[in-house]
Amino acid sequence: MSDYSQLQKMVLEVFNSSGPLARSTEQFKPRDGQTQMALAVAKLVEEGGSLVVEAGTGVGKTYAYLVPALLSGERILLSTATKTLQDQLFSRDLPKLLEVLNLPLRTALLKGRSSYLCQHRLDLVHEQTMLADRSAVDLLVKVKKWAPQTTTGDLSDLPGLDERSSLIPYITSSRDNCMGSECSFWRECHVNQVRREAMAADIVVINHHLFFADLVVRESGMAEILPSVRVVIFDEAHQLNETGTQFLGQQITTGQLLDFTHDLLAAGIQLAKGLADWTAIASQVELATRDLRLTIGKHPNSTKLKWVDEIPEGIHDDSWNSSWDALVFAIEQAMTHLENVLEIAPDFEKLQARATEVLNTISFFRKPCELGQVRWVDVTSQARFVQSPLDIAQVVQSRMIQTEFVGSDEGQTANTTTNLPRSWIFTSATLGTDDQLSWFTQPCGLSQSTILKVDSPFDYGQQAFYYVPADMVEPKSPLHSEQVAVLSQQVARALGGRTLVLTTTLRALTAISDILKEDLDQPNDPEVLYQGQYPKRYLMDRFRQAIEPQQRGCVLVASASFWEGIDVPGEALQAVIIDKLPFPPPGDPMVEARSQRLTSLGKSPFNDYAMPEAAISLKQGAGRLIRRETDHGALIICDKRLITTGYGKRLLSGLPPMRRIQTRVEFDAAIQELTKFDTKVF
Ligand code: SF4
Repeated sequence: MSDYSQLQKMVLEVFNSSGPLARSTEQFKPRDGQTQMALAVAKLVEEGGSLVVEAGTGVGKTYAYLVPALLSGERILLSTATKTLQDQLFSRDLPKLLEVLNLPLRTALLKGRSSYLCQHRLDLVHEQTMLADRSAVDLLVKVKKWAPQTTTGDLSDLPGLDERSSLIPYITSSRDNCMGSECSFWRECHVNQVRREAMAADIVVINHHLFFADLVVRESGMAEILPSVRVVIFDEAHQLNETGTQFLGQQITTGQLLDFTHDLLAAGIQLAKGLADWTAIASQVELATRDLRLTIGKHPNSTKLKWVDEIPEGIHDDSWNSSWDALVFAIEQAMTHLENVLEIAPDFEKLQARATEVLNTISFFRKPCELGQVRWVDVTSQARFVQSPLDIAQVVQSRMIQTEFVGSDEGQTANTTTNLPRSWIFTSATLGTDDQLSWFTQPCGLSQSTILKVDSPFDYGQQAFYYVPADMVEPKSPLHSEQVAVLSQQVARALGGRTLVLTTTLRALTAISDILKEDLDQPNDPEVLYQGQYPKRYLMDRFRQAIEPQQRGCVLVASASFWEGIDVPGEALQAVIIDKLPFPPPGDPMVEARSQRLTSLGKSPFNDYAMPEAAISLKQGAGRLIRRETDHGALIICDKRLITTGYGKRLLSGLPPMRRIQTRVEFDAAIQELTKFDTKVF
């Protein structure tokens, strides 16, 4: 004990079998891994620097970083991957722990602008804008009723809100359209209010999107807070590189251009009616935007068009250039009219500034892509023109790790010390496959950080098994999705639902869910849910509740974001079925650019990029299965390459040590065995 610092001794007491955590809840049991991580975080907090911790599922990493950070008395910035996780930390973990530790610290939750109601824009919006969208009009009625009652303006507090509603951009602000101090709601503005609270708080909870967006444009308040924060913690840090690259580049979307036309029309009609033909001016920009989208042509949803030369692949030079010329002309025309009404209302100055920024961005995209960056067009019903760096390494070093901690009088707690370097903590359940956690540390510029790996306390050999059906067709066969669907249907029937099917592509998602919907059509069959059918949070709630009495169980088919970050402890999830090995898609412009860079450095794109990416995704997908010490379950990977190829075996060795089931007979028996477990959700 004498070798421990004061903070470490306090940490040990908290995690002790008779400490405050054990006294506060019967479910708490001291775990070596959790204490080890907490001690490492305490050391880092005391000394400064950067620490990367991979903490396997069940370690209890949230408390392992929160306890030392809170006990240190330093000002803390805590970032996580999603708004849902932010809410969970802010409303559940933090208050509970502050109560247990008896610490009267001030906490604040800071999200991006699009999460808060903008009273000014709510005043501007009128039903006619959205007559075509009945659900948006209904939601508007609800919002108008809720607006005078809410104290936070946080839209996630509005019951039944669909985050995908087309109403959201009309009732929230963006950097482009916020009126700032000229706004008549400036004093009671929700965005300002949360920023003020954040500036005065000891612990501020943000998300990675906001962190990087603010690092670039310094506009949501996070960038003002960072200099005075001594401890910065990134949970779910495995998402940092992908989130960071999205924000550190440049982009413009046709949706953004259409929003500009809507705002132009709304402001013109409401504030300067009769002074110009606002409908014609806005229509011209809208028409040019729609023409630009048409120039890109029809493609399957979510296609990424490579953009290596001056023009994206498959687009005709003349139509490309004339579309942009027409758009520039229409925006310039709008600017001329705006010029005449600038003094009528601040809204027009804002619109003028937006138009200037749009023209600058268009001009940027009409020049060749910079070296070390990659450019492409994301095609959905809209088009998104993107240029992005290949990783965030340089930014993490120059704009995060090497920045100075300057301290601040406001919001600092008594123990805050200004003579120490800042402490950076990065943690997640999955950060790499080697001892250096290179998959995470290299692209994030953290190769010099202290590394800690803490294994999961679960007994995977006892709690879980995996099965690779040897008789299934190759993953590239057209019959593959059908065979995955048949197996999924058999497993879901045997378990009464409780099955999550994770696909590597949206095409497989549709094919498998369509077959399941057709096959599971008996009254007692499990219900089939699939990604895109409802908002993610609703799907997950329904999946969890499907084991309650009178319910028939659920099989959920999902892709992309469902491979990670979803937590279904207990008996609601007993089987995870993965369709294929999750290698990065070869035609993806970012994947190609990263592979080319590795080749130019004499490295192997397959071994040094595709393999680690697949290993991490596989580990994340498999990680959905066992969430508690009492969970039992089956991992089924419908890709023979896992057992027939050398690289497959390497991927397999990166998975938790589950026992292997080899034959179909054994598999059926093991699934039957699972039905006997009645694990409870804590
Ligand atoms: S200050 Fe900006 S965000 Fe706040 S109400 Fe006004 S326009 Fe909306």
